[in-house]
Amino acid sequence: MLDTRTVRAFADGFGGEVIRPGEPKYDAARAVWNGLVDRRPGLVVLPDGTADVVAALRFARERDLLVAVRGGGHSIPGFSTCDDGMVIDLSRMRGATVDPERRTAVCAGGALLSELDEAAQSVGLVCPVGVVSHLVTADGGIVRVSADENPDLFWGVRGAGANFGIAVSFEYALHALGHPVTHGTVVHPIERAGELAQLFVQMAETGPDELWLGFYVRLALPVENFPSGIGGRPIAAVSVLHCGQPREAERDLARLSAFGPPVAGSIEPKPHLTAQRLGDVAAAWGHRFYMKSAFLHSLPEELVDQAVRHAHGIPQGAEGEFGFWSGGRAIAQVPEDATRRALP
Ligand SMILES: Cc1cc2nc3c(=O)[nH]c(=O)nc-3n(C[C@H](O)[C@H](O)[C@H](O)COP(=O)(O)OP(=O)(O)OC[C@H]3O[C@@H](n4cnc5c(N)ncnc54)[C@H](O)[C@@H]3O)c2cc1C
Repeated sequence: MLDTRTVRAFADGFGGEVIRPGEPKYDAARAVWNGLVDRRPGLVVLPDGTADVVAALRFARERDLLVAVRGGGHSIPGFSTCDDGMVIDLSRMRGATVDPERRTAVCAGGALLSELDEAAQSVGLVCPVGVVSHLVTADGGIVRVSADENPDLFWGVRGAGANFGIAVSFEYALHALGHPVTHGTVVHPIERAGELAQLFVQMAETGPDELWLGFYVRLALPVENFPSGIGGRPIAAVSVLHCGQPREAERDLARLSAFGPPVAGSIEPKPHLTAQRLGDVAAAWGHRFYMKSAFLHSLPEELVDQAVRHAHGIPQGAEGEFGFWSGGRAIAQVPEDATRRALP
């Protein structure tokens, strides 16, 4: 337990903000994206810059406090908060700057994805996120980490799932994207789930690198404005994002169009920034969210049958889904052991 005098002395020399239990801002400061996560840190600190991050870490180390680092707060299991210890919340360290010549973007440690998306798209570039970072290490040192500089630390911070340090600045490689992406979902009756799953697998296996697909068995949500009778009932759906030219997307998605008229459909060319924001309302802060995931090398018929069976059992009013995402292609070009230990 931290005594008031110690915390006050720390707060007086700290550039950012320090929030303690019992203060008016405490409940808002301890909230994270997933409403299921309800932790009560002993202290929430919001640094204004690198010097504050170093000071916060030193304070925590000297008192052997558990530290959780918070960026956007979206960690589904709640890794960016803790009970009793110190949360270092980077939300005051914002901003993204793009260098169009080098095709890179530099983001502050607490920058949100929308800041990076908007800065990159303003000059026809895009970032699928993540290559280099500047780090305050767990002992308070400041280093640059990349594939070439401090590579062990770079590997650890990307994939080990533990607090190796705090990234106060990220540098990302950008790619050209000056045209609309083709994005959206087609919904079909649940009775066609097996056929749709087969088509999803074929398209994922034979489609171009530009195409990402997801296959879903879930309830139709009332907010989705489906034709009457569908709301709240199980459906099968395929979502796509094609980042090639719209005419290439039309060609690559022809088999999906030929599958038959959907119950509802929203696949069309749209600006990348529009596609990026479409999930914002459904994924709003504070919902209670539970999720489990695994890697699959194939999509057996039996698994789809099980998903359909369980979808019929989702209670009315709840929002549950089975989602299968294609993960190969360009994603698979990143070596298996680049961000985690290779599977045996
Ligand atoms: C609705 C939703 C949609 C998502 N969609 C995608 C998606 O399309 N693609 C995808 O790849 N992921 C997706 N994710 C997963 C998301 O990218 C991860 O949960 C990510 O870690 C969230 O980052 P954050 O900064 O918001 O999270 P936080 O909860 O703040 O942090 C997550 C973890 O990273 C640590 N951390 C955060 N910032 C720093 C920092 N600057 N330095 C060191 N450690 C830090 C935290 O301590 C914590 O362990 C999604 C998550 C949600 C909730």
